[in-house]
Amino acid sequence: MSETEDQTEARMRFIYTIRSRGVTDARVLSAMEKIDRKAFVTGIFADRAYEDMPLPIACGQTISQPSVVALMTEALQVGPRDKVLEIGTGSGYQAAILSQLARRVYTVERHRTLARDAQRLFDELGLTNITAMVTDGSHGLPDIAPFDRIIVTAAAEDPPGPLLAQLRVGGIMVVPVGQSDTVQQLIRVTRNEDGYEYEELRAVRFVPLVEGLGQ
Ligand code: SAH
Repeated sequence: MSETEDQTEARMRFIYTIRSRGVTDARVLSAMEKIDRKAFVTGIFADRAYEDMPLPIACGQTISQPSVVALMTEALQVGPRDKVLEIGTGSGYQAAILSQLARRVYTVERHRTLARDAQRLFDELGLTNITAMVTDGSHGLPDIAPFDRIIVTAAAEDPPGPLLAQLRVGGIMVVPVGQSDTVQQLIRVTRNEDGYEYEELRAVRFVPLVEGLGQ
C-alpha cells in the first residue's frame, strides 16, 4: 500500500525531530527512516506513531519515545558484525532498529503476549536476524553469551550482574539506572581488559525492570 502525502510528510518530520534532538549518526538515522514506527503501535494510538512521545502498548507497557530510541542506539555504537541482546522487547520497535545495524539481535521479554506479537511482526516485515524470547532478562541469556552489545530498555536499580558478566571484553551496554518512579540516568558501560567503565549520558524515564515472568 502506498503512503498518503500526509503520511510521507509526517515521516519526514519524524526524522527531522530526531535529528533536532542531537542524533547525527547516519546509519542510525537511516534505520529510523527505514523501520516504520506505525507498524509497532496499534489501536487508538496508531495515529500518533510519528510523534516524539512514548505511547501505551499491550500489558500496561510502553513503546519508547523515538528520539530516546535513536539516542540509545547511537550510544550503543553497533557494528555490522555485532551480536546484540536487548532486554525488554515491548513492541519490538527498538529491536527492529537494531536489526538494521547488527548481525544478530536477541530480544527478551517477560510478557509472553508481547514477545509473541513482536516475533510475528518481525516475520511479517522480513526481519530475519531477530529472535524474541520469553524470559526474565535480568539473568541475560547465558547459553548465547557473550554479547558485543547489550541494551536494557527498562530501568534497573543497578546494572544487573549477569548482564555485565555476559558482555564481551570490548563490549558496550546501555542501561537506564535508578528508581522506577523517578527520573533515571542512562548509563553506558564499556567492558575493557581491566574491568568496567561507566559514563552518565542523560536523564530518561523508563518502566521498571521487573523480576519473573508476566501474564
Ligand atoms: N524496547 C521496547 C520498549 C520497552 S518497555 C520497545 O521498543 O517498544 C520495557 C519492556 O521491558 C516492557 O515490555 C516490560 O514488560 C519489559 N520487562 C520489564 N522487566 C523485564 C525483565 N526482567 N525481563 C524481560 N523484560 C522485562
